[in-house]
Amino acid sequence: MSGNQILVLGGGVGGLVASNVLAERLGDRAKVTLVERKDKFQFPPSYPWLMLGMRKPEQVQKGLGTLRKKGIKVVNDEVSSIDVEKRVVGTKGGDLYYDHLVLALGAEYALSAIPGFREHARHIYDLESALRFKDAIERFQGGRVAIGISRTPFKCPAAPYEVALLLEDYFAKKGMREKVRFEFFTPEPMPVPAVGPEIGGKVLEFLRSKGIGYHPRMKAVEIRPGEVRFDGGDAIPFDLLFCVPPHVAPSVVVEAGLTDETGWVPVDPRTLETKHPGVFAVGDVASVPTPNGHVPFLPKAGVFAHGQAEVVASNLAREVSGRGKKKEWGGEGSCFLEAGKGQSAFVKGVFLGDGKPEMEFHMPGRVWHMQKVLFERYWMRHWF
Ligand SMILES: Cc1cc2nc3c(=O)[nH]c(=O)nc-3n(C[C@H](O)[C@H](O)[C@H](O)COP(=O)(O)OP(=O)(O)OC[C@H]3O[C@@H](n4cnc5c(N)ncnc54)[C@H](O)[C@@H]3O)c2cc1C
Repeated sequence: MSGNQILVLGGGVGGLVASNVLAERLGDRAKVTLVERKDKFQFPPSYPWLMLGMRKPEQVQKGLGTLRKKGIKVVNDEVSSIDVEKRVVGTKGGDLYYDHLVLALGAEYALSAIPGFREHARHIYDLESALRFKDAIERFQGGRVAIGISRTPFKCPAAPYEVALLLEDYFAKKGMREKVRFEFFTPEPMPVPAVGPEIGGKVLEFLRSKGIGYHPRMKAVEIRPGEVRFDGGDAIPFDLLFCVPPHVAPSVVVEAGLTDETGWVPVDPRTLETKHPGVFAVGDVASVPTPNGHVPFLPKAGVFAHGQAEVVASNLAREVSGRGKKKEWGGEGSCFLEAGKGQSAFVKGVFLGDGKPEMEFHMPGRVWHMQKVLFERYWMRHWF
């Protein structure tokens, strides 16, 4: 048995799951506090639908206040410092002490890392930006659409491909397809490298079948009005630009000295423990090595944040209560890839196995699109 003050930082996917599971398993035996700067949980997998007007902002957000009736103390505040030696977290409203700390602070966007990004690029990596991109899509009269990835790692390896396929379908439905030319750029050698060359090849086929040009190994260094410039001197012109912003660990985590040379918080892949006693990191903020993977580190995705948070919360509940079995995370993950025409592809795999990840891939179909709708419904209801 150990101290019972548990602090969860970040009320996104990982933090929401961790605090729920802890409260459910421990009840009065622990004090679970969730600190989140926003007063609402937002569901990013729905942002591709938001950008096309297929969802309204209120459909993809939910107030965090309802967690209080489960016994979770919700602190709506900014985390300004983390001291893992003294076991204290600073917020604007005061210091919070802990016995166990779960970091689920996600990623921040370093827009100024690429000159011109802030002024000329659009994206859907937060709700407000997704709404701004929606306005730009609605105003667009035709021309060159560039869609790209600025840097790796980034959240949801499938998202930019979804954006490309959904936009192609959107402009086709609007009767504007002949007026639009699509180009996709990425620093990666192929689409979605984490799932291996076979599935990456299928994604490439989808792009080609839709007439979307694909430019791998292109690292954007500057965005000028109407033109993305790459190292090596190449350029791609655009009238409308979607670009995944560079991702970095939240500055409060970096300033606390919790990151390593990857730029993220190193963890034990099976337990999500950091090297600091009592401190765990789940989701996007963590760097999870995958020695047998197609890429050296696990990509960033909500499905991983979810699974990791369940394991951490369950093990912490065991530590506090002395009951239950110790769990290990196995690296399971799955992902939908919306492909337009009301269809979605689906990929599933295990990323921490002894050999290369075993992957299962399903071609676009209506059934997978419906599954994604159910996935959204589950998230907007289950945890509140
Ligand atoms: C367009 C898009 C589509 C996606 N689609 C999918 C998908 O289909 N499937 C999938 O699995 N994943 C998807 N993802 C990725 C998924 O949303 C993330 O991987 C997931 O949200 C990570 O969970 P997390 O808990 O680590 O971080 P987050 O969910 O980002 O939560 C971090 C929280 O910490 C808070 N925070 C940060 N700093 C502070 C601070 N200093 N003080 C207080 N609070 C702070 C933030 O406000 C945020 O609420 C998608 C992402 C995007 C952008």
